[in-house]
Amino acid sequence: MKPFPWHAAALGSLVAQRERLPHALLVQGAAGIGKTRFAQALAAALLCERPRNALACGECDSCHWLEQGNHPDYREVIPEAAEEDDEGAEAEAAAKADKPKSLVIKIEQVRALADFMSLSTHRSGWRVLVLHPAEALHPNAANALLKTLEEPPPRTMIVLVSDRPARLLATIRSRCRVLALPMPAPADALAWLRAEGVPEPQAALAAAGGAPLLAQRMAEPDEAQFRRKLAAELARPGGADALQFAGSVDREGVERLIHGLQTWVQDLVRVRMGGKPRHHLEHAAALSARARSSDLERLFALDRELAEARRLAAHPLNPRLLTEHLLTAYNRATLA
Ligand SMILES: [Zn+2]
Repeated sequence: MKPFPWHAAALGSLVAQRERLPHALLVQGAAGIGKTRFAQALAAALLCERPRNALACGECDSCHWLEQGNHPDYREVIPEAAEEDDEGAEAEAAAKADKPKSLVIKIEQVRALADFMSLSTHRSGWRVLVLHPAEALHPNAANALLKTLEEPPPRTMIVLVSDRPARLLATIRSRCRVLALPMPAPADALAWLRAEGVPEPQAALAAAGGAPLLAQRMAEPDEAQFRRKLAAELARPGGADALQFAGSVDREGVERLIHGLQTWVQDLVRVRMGGKPRHHLEHAAALSARARSSDLERLFALDRELAEARRLAAHPLNPRLLTEHLLTAYNRATLA
């Protein structure tokens, strides 16, 4: 498991001091820059039996086991709902018929680590646990984890990965060394997107605010189509048809809507203040037309409201009502 190219240097310098590593690391940074892959690559490097330049060789038994997902000294803990994503359409269909999967990391999942944490390790002596996203830890689960963070077994590395570290318990944060991964340089991100065959990589990267993995996802046909549809709605001269648009937004669509609307509102603020759009480059004309009729104070208020909605979007809510409410607020702010 290799890190993304823009993280190779940071990983190298971290692993080079492997004997002085902390027991717990909080890897934080923007969504869509490859933090989880960084954590997995760190695990691979620590567990590798013949590391090269401090990084995983990709060829030894340990590296193979890790790739196949059955390394005895490695665990990854994620919410049930995220597991489902990995299992393909069949599991997804079965899950839909069943009750909804949990969005949080439950205390049972942390308790189930007791044997893993207390027994001796099998191979290199290292033991690595990766939890992501760490903000999904239920408070009870976080408290259970706290005990392990306070007295970790030797040569144990616990890596928490988070886009929203402010939502972690302060007691958890204070027991981790923070590693803040920056946004990759645009040139590195673009080179990677081109190599991945992403169409219109520049527009996708702008829409994603510079985060390459988010850009890749946003360039997928249904995502790109949703953004076009949303932009057309937001640019309508008479205002967005909140009621009708809300009818087509499901639970999954809400996060996309909030992200799209928030980046659009932030672009409106920039244009209103004489700057250039940063996210929706292809809609510069529509943005500047709309910015002229916008009320700056209301745009700021809407941006704050969207940030709050984004925080709550992972939780069960009524997607239609929220969409309708946000688009109505948008109309009020931009047709002043
Ligand atoms: Zn290896």
